Amino acid sequence: MGKAILFSAPSGCGKTTIIRELMQYFDCFDFSISATSRQMREGEVDGRDYYFLTRDEFMQRVGEEQFLEWEEVYQGVCYGTLKSEVRRIWEEGHVIVFDVDVNGGRNIKRYFGDDALSIFVMPPSVEVLEQRLRSRGTETEEAIAKRLGRSAEELKQAPYFDVTIVNDDLRTAVEQTRKVIEDFLNA
Ligand code: ADP
Ligand code: 5GP
Repeated sequence: MGKAILFSAPSGCGKTTIIRELMQYFDCFDFSISATSRQMREGEVDGRDYYFLTRDEFMQRVGEEQFLEWEEVYQGVCYGTLKSEVRRIWEEGHVIVFDVDVNGGRNIKRYFGDDALSIFVMPPSVEVLEQRLRSRGTETEEAIAKRLGRSAEELKQAPYFDVTIVNDDLRTAVEQTRKVIEDFLNA
C-alpha cells in the first residue's frame, strides 16, 4: 500500500484551489479523478477534472463494484472514487490526492487508516463561503442553495479529520497544508 492525502469540505471552501497549488509543489502527487453524473462546467475536461458519466452509466459501474466509495452528494447527482484510480496511482509509485465530500472523506480515511492523512478545509465563516460559491460563478441559484443547505451539517464533521486548515488567506492556508503533508510523508 502507498500513501494518500484526502481533502474534504463543503463545496466552495477552496479544496480545488489548494490542491492545484500543492500539485505544483509535490511531484509525487497524483490526483484521483472521480466519476460524477453532474453536468460538465465550462473549462472542465473529461478525464482530467472528472470522468463525466450519465446517471445510467454511473449506476452500471456501481453494479459492477467499480467504486471504492460513492455518494449521492446532491439529490440526483452522484460522485464516486474508482478503485482503478487507486491501483493506477499506486502502481506508478505516487501519493494519491482525493477531493471528496465529507462523508466520502470519512469513509476513505476508515479504509486507508494511517496510510491516509485526512484534511478538512474550513471557510473563515459561512458568509464568506456563500460569497465564494457565488463569485466562482459556476452554479445556478438552485445549486448554490443545495450546496449551502448541506454545508452546516458538513462543517460539524471537522473534528473527525486528522487536520483542519482554515482557508482565510490562501497563501497561509497553502503553506500550513504543505507543512502538515511534509510531516506526514516524512514520518
Ligand atoms: P471547492 O473545491 O472546495 O468547492 P474552490 O477551490 O472551487 O472550492 O473555491 C471556491 C471559490 O473560492 C473559487 O472561486 C476560488 O477561487 C475562491 N477561493 C478559494 N480560496 C480562496 C481564498 N483563500 N480567498 C479568496 N477566494 C478563495
Ligand atoms: P463539485 O460538483 O463542486 O465538483 O463537487 C461537489 C462535491 O462532491 C465536493 O464536496 C467534492 O469534494 C465531492 N466529490 C467529488 N468527487 C467525489 C468522490 O469521488 N466521492 C465523494 N464522496 N465525493 C466527491
